[in-house]
Amino acid sequence: MLSQRDLAIRNLREKDYRAILDRVEIEGDCHVWKGRLSRGKGRFTIYQGPQPVEITVARLVAYLAFGKAPENKTQVTTTCNNRNCLRKEHLTYASDEEVRKRRKERNARRR
Ligand SMILES: [Zn+2]
Repeated sequence: MLSQRDLAIRNLREKDYRAILDRVEIEGDCHVWKGRLSRGKGRFTIYQGPQPVEITVARLVAYLAFGKAPENKTQVTTTCNNRNCLRKEHLTYASDEEVRKRRKERNARRR
């Protein structure tokens, strides 16, 4: 069954796409979200039906590019170490464990 979130993405309208594209800037290889961030993640609200649905933009792009997340990989993460990147080639579904591992590697590199 599709969640309310999945349904909202499926029914995304032209103006939603435009609103998202307006908030993305190309930086080098990456397509970086410049819109609202909350708890470190880019977020977008889809207004349709009785309840607005808030979604992370990375999840939205991943859903559009790859379809529904597999059950064992429910997180969306970037492979380019730019956490606000939305380029679909830099996004992937990952398990909680993979996300933790990637975060650890990223932090180690920063030191
Ligand atoms: Zn990127």
